[in-house]
Amino acid sequence: MPSTPRSASGPNQPGLRSTSGSSQGSAQSGTQPPTSNYNTPGRPEKDYPYKAIHNWHENNNTQARKLLAVGQLGKCLTNTQHGWISVSIGKNNAQVQVPRWAIEVGFERKFGDRLFEHDFSRISQSGVNHNNIQASNSLEKAIRSLALALSLKSNQDKMPFMSDNMRGMLRNDSQRNAYVAKMIGDLNKDYVRLACNEQSTVQDFRQALRVARLGDNRTGAYARVTGNFKTPAHRNRRPEFYVGQTSAGFYVRSASHRSPRLDDTSLAAESVRDADYCELYPICGTVGDPLYLDFVEQILIIVNGSYRPELKLQLTKATVGVSALQDFIKIYSMKESAQVLSEVASAVFGEIGWTPLCDRPAFGVHRGLNYDSPIRQTDWREKVLWIKTTQPGVKVVYRRSGLPVRVTTSTLGVNFKNGKTYQSATANVKFGAHWKEGEGPPKGTEVFPVIELMMNGPHPYPYARLPEVGCFADWHFANRVGIKLEWKGDDGKWYHQYFQRQHYREYMDSHEPGCTRGYAETLGLVKYLHQVPQDQPRGWMIDFGIARIKELTWDHMTQTAHLHELVAPAGAWPPPTWKTTAQITHEIQQLGALGVNGPYMVFPPGTRLMPSGRKCDTCFYEAWYDGLIRRRRVSGDWPCTRHRDANDQQTNICETCFRKGIVCSWTPEDQMPPRMITALQYRAHTAPSAASIDLDVTMLEIS
Ligand SMILES: [Zn+2]
Ligand SMILES: [Zn+2]
Repeated sequence: MPSTPRSASGPNQPGLRSTSGSSQGSAQSGTQPPTSNYNTPGRPEKDYPYKAIHNWHENNNTQARKLLAVGQLGKCLTNTQHGWISVSIGKNNAQVQVPRWAIEVGFERKFGDRLFEHDFSRISQSGVNHNNIQASNSLEKAIRSLALALSLKSNQDKMPFMSDNMRGMLRNDSQRNAYVAKMIGDLNKDYVRLACNEQSTVQDFRQALRVARLGDNRTGAYARVTGNFKTPAHRNRRPEFYVGQTSAGFYVRSASHRSPRLDDTSLAAESVRDADYCELYPICGTVGDPLYLDFVEQILIIVNGSYRPELKLQLTKATVGVSALQDFIKIYSMKESAQVLSEVASAVFGEIGWTPLCDRPAFGVHRGLNYDSPIRQTDWREKVLWIKTTQPGVKVVYRRSGLPVRVTTSTLGVNFKNGKTYQSATANVKFGAHWKEGEGPPKGTEVFPVIELMMNGPHPYPYARLPEVGCFADWHFANRVGIKLEWKGDDGKWYHQYFQRQHYREYMDSHEPGCTRGYAETLGLVKYLHQVPQDQPRGWMIDFGIARIKELTWDHMTQTAHLHELVAPAGAWPPPTWKTTAQITHEIQQLGALGVNGPYMVFPPGTRLMPSGRKCDTCFYEAWYDGLIRRRRVSGDWPCTRHRDANDQQTNICETCFRKGIVCSWTPEDQMPPRMITALQYRAHTAPSAASIDLDVTMLEIS
């Protein structure tokens, strides 16, 4: 329901209002519309984005429905007429008419005509001195030059996706040279001969090489050729080419390729299903460590040119929604590495005159099918790319690409990192999610781990489940961390579930107060995502290393998304600091507790002892939480034992409070304020069931 149009030159125009002192002044923001670059008088606004800079109520009546709130974003649906303009509001894009002065218009780009900007490194020269490279044939020359190019720091700096152990191996001359020499020795001689002949065809390849036979259990890299496609539209398509590796043996791999899982929707699997023949040719049979296999596979993908042609980054249009965001992260990670590696390859190969097989007209393949880059994820150590988005004032959200759900013995579970450790991290913590039968995503579902850091106060579903009162200066960070999984249900809707630590009383070190596993894990994540190391770390702390993060921001007024790599800041997380006894005493007093840090087992005078037994407040809650008190079981099941210090002298605190690094308090049960429980006790397990996710993220699609 649009407001009644009125001439904007009437008494409601703020410029006049300010002089007339009209009582309607408070209906709007009361300020004169600012002069702005976005306000270009006379320019047609239709289809451009706008942002509300004043509040506007229906009929300019503050009692009526508010149509525009400052900061509201949307699209101009008409041009301005007599000072009024129709704009879209809300999720349903309702149309309302508002005074033109209440909005700013962004004229840079039409609404929906979105631009994507990202910091992407270009490589035009390899930096390799090819004259020093000795090789007995052109393939060998290509391999040696490429390996050298990948080892140069100037190139590696443009490849932040490269896993740390691959980076280290390449930088180490003797290790790299050993790998290259071994690879050249391992290559199939017929493959080398064909690859070095620019006139070879894929049919020569199929005739000269032998497919993997029953019993061929060698490991190594292979080329797979698919062809004679059944789909009518693909009938005349030339064969397709893929490079892969297997540690299970060529024949086993060959058999599994011929029957890809039905739920495998990758292009490579589609090609196999559609093809009449699917032949696996060992081209580098070898015995080697996983890093070597990844190296060999990566080099062969590049020298054969078997990346999917559409992997080149062309980000064209944007859309809104979690689904698009998840697809984007996955595809972006792959596209980014494929494109930078392709740039390195074309620089190197241009300098030495090597044409990758799939790029040769004579070879005659339709396209390569490789999608991912082994260099990104070597030896099961992935350099995970996290995409950071911010909900201003609320939380920062980090998302990574998806992982398949695996079935464990009795529960569905997904390891947070799926066995892929962050290189340079000293720890590999698995975050297991467990669902009851029938809940949670089915086996094989791709789930997307998400970490959320609240900007103010605890997360509604804190992973660590710690009490509010803790002994470390940075204790409050621990409960700010929420971890959830997102997945797409069979109904096409997106679901999510937070998960939380089950064993919240676990300590990393029994001699050091306060170091619960929940604290150690979440602070490890906080430092990882802040990209800083711990200064003066304690032995029990968890080091996840430094996260690789790209921040995604969206500017509505220019319809531009920006994605840029966050560079780890200099400096470190402050050294571990324990709060003083006085600080902790004060914190517990603030909760309304009595007898804080007072004499052991002495309750304030004049108050009755609780019937449930003599315990400090913390032990009372521990016992309460365990259901001991509710079941009226005798005290002693959670004893409040007096702590003795290093000199075997009695102290005024109990063992439980000592381990937590806090002090005892002695409040009678009937005087305990309700707030005390979350402050002193671990939070109850509050994770909700799966529910649809709000589509609150502006994201991009890649084509
Ligand atoms: Zn106690
Ligand atoms: Zn105590």
